[in-house]
Amino acid sequence: MRAGPSQEEIRRQNLGALLRLVHMRGQISRAELTSELGLNRSTIGALTSDLTATGLVSEEAPRETGRAGRPSLVVRASSEQVYVYAANIGVDRITAARVGLGGVILDRRESTRPSGDVVPPLRSFIQSMESKVDTDARCFGAGISVCGLVRREDGMVRLGPHLGWLDQPVGIALQEELPDLLPSVVVGNVADLSALAEHTRGAGVDCSNIIYVYSDVGIGAGIIAGGRRVTGHGGYGGEVGHMVVHPNGRPCGCGSRGCWETEVGEEALLRLSGRTGQSGREAVLAVVDAAVRGDAEAQAAVRHVGDWLGFGVANLVNIFNPELVIFGGTLRDVYLAAAAQVRSRLNHNALAACREHVRLRTPQLGDDAPLLGAAELAFEQLLADPLG
Ligand SMILES: [Zn+2]
Repeated sequence: MRAGPSQEEIRRQNLGALLRLVHMRGQISRAELTSELGLNRSTIGALTSDLTATGLVSEEAPRETGRAGRPSLVVRASSEQVYVYAANIGVDRITAARVGLGGVILDRRESTRPSGDVVPPLRSFIQSMESKVDTDARCFGAGISVCGLVRREDGMVRLGPHLGWLDQPVGIALQEELPDLLPSVVVGNVADLSALAEHTRGAGVDCSNIIYVYSDVGIGAGIIAGGRRVTGHGGYGGEVGHMVVHPNGRPCGCGSRGCWETEVGEEALLRLSGRTGQSGREAVLAVVDAAVRGDAEAQAAVRHVGDWLGFGVANLVNIFNPELVIFGGTLRDVYLAAAAQVRSRLNHNALAACREHVRLRTPQLGDDAPLLGAAELAFEQLLADPLG
């Protein structure tokens, strides 16, 4: 017979579960921890004491509640002292942030993306932020979000078509630059990490089935099904931009034809609005703005993209039956301008049962979702074994 988990193993799991709750909420009372974790009060007291002793959390008396009886202590994440670095490598811009336990962005740096290696500017950003950190604070690693296909096993960016990347070990390269500061650097896809962030502390906190469609030139999706991230065998799943929707359609950068992103991506919107040759977020926002102000060509372009956005989302809704679809990156503004088209196509093309509870939303975390998702990835090891 297999032996059950040891006392030490149970304690480790309970510490992880408790720290994860504090991290997700930022602060939580001992009474809430007791009811949410299903453990008794003395166990919660012992676990929080262990975490307080290591400096991961602190405890304090709550503000006056006005109720009778002894108020429950509030457990708070030590955000300033316990942190990771997070970076987002977009087509136009690179951003880095120091993110404290509890998902608090404490500091940030941003610049246009250099045409060459991104590791030297990322290293400078991190060194600049690190120079302002208290000496008693501890860094638990870094996470990087990339618009590309990332191998789960080792974070290798196999393909970043809009970055011009092929087999870039960006995580390993950054870790080698700052070995004393960063115990590890993990890498993930921007849509996956944005979905993770919205699920952890954004629009999808109470949802177990989420599709986050993200656009930064190309289109990808982060998928949460049954509360878990779905990234496929190697980590490359969610490439919905290359779902073929139009077999005789336009050629796609991937080598195929009629991919979804040839109808709803940045290039399509700019071409259809008579802005061929332009690129970037500002150009996309200018089309949306022109459409809102009544420009007929811009309105037709937004309607076209809205229609195709709805077709693709209908397919995804039929396959995954999500409660929530979030439109992020530049698709946020395109969706807001074409919400009626998207909803109408979804209602016509998706099965009634699959779409009956689905809500269409913009991100609650805005452009911070990729950074907060990268931070989640970087905190994962600490949360799995807080005293390890
Ligand atoms: Zn394609």
